[in-house]
Amino acid sequence: MATQWRELGDGNFALTGGSNIGIIVREGRAVIVDAGLDKDAAKKALRAAADAGAKPAALVITHGHTDHFGGAGWLAQQAGIPVYAAPLEAVFAMQPLLEPLFLYGGATPIAELRGKFTLARQGVDSIALLEPGAQEIAGIPLDILPLPGHALQQIGVGASNTCYCGDVVFPDETLERHPILFCADMDAWLRTLERLPALSYAWYIPGHGEPVQDIAALAERNAARLREIRAWVWESLATPQEAPGVLRNVAARYNITLTAPQFLLLALTTIHAALTSLQAAGEARVEMTANRMLWRR
Ligand SMILES: [Zn+2]
Repeated sequence: MATQWRELGDGNFALTGGSNIGIIVREGRAVIVDAGLDKDAAKKALRAAADAGAKPAALVITHGHTDHFGGAGWLAQQAGIPVYAAPLEAVFAMQPLLEPLFLYGGATPIAELRGKFTLARQGVDSIALLEPGAQEIAGIPLDILPLPGHALQQIGVGASNTCYCGDVVFPDETLERHPILFCADMDAWLRTLERLPALSYAWYIPGHGEPVQDIAALAERNAARLREIRAWVWESLATPQEAPGVLRNVAARYNITLTAPQFLLLALTTIHAALTSLQAAGEARVEMTANRMLWRR
């Protein structure tokens, strides 16, 4: 995907296309936000920082998904800079095998999960752990915002007028093409999306797609999708069934066909997140019948 260089004002920049990368420049130093899928993406980030007349000083990872940290190990080594992430996300970025391992239920992953979109070619050697709140990173004042849901400890990075917000919202093209959004904690994500409009940044740079100014509207469209998935999961429990059966029903609702094991396993995570949410609300329960883990209302 062609990358585009965006100037957002106040020394804030973004490289968009594929997975978006933020570049926050102050007095000749740059904090980079996310490193893209691989070394090629990370190279573009370093070139962009140089073009902006800045020396990379730190890398912040919004969450531990391969398309956001895959280039981080190489970038950090190449630029000799520290890497920051929230504790749980840091573990994924340091141990890339964890992502396919989780998707495959903790067993050594099948070949289909070892492609570069789910297994980063290089992990990050060492990561400094981030707590939410206002803080200086490489001497640059930033706001670290907790944005959990899509990933359990996803963070956003606020820098003056711009918020680099990871995958807290997906663009309309994604809502259209991949309707079952990857979700780890549905209740947390819905709460995060509710809070988002109260932030007052001029620009939001999501992990994918174009820079956004009207975050409230896009947050509501993402929340509406999550609520819809949850509702269709509940509807599907009119007949007690196992999670993969629920997924088939929800996929049929969206008229989509999952064409590879990794797509099915990613979508199944979202179904599991919806079932957890329903169980927590007392709207669904799980019971064992004939060695089947059946979900019922
Ligand atoms: Zn993600």
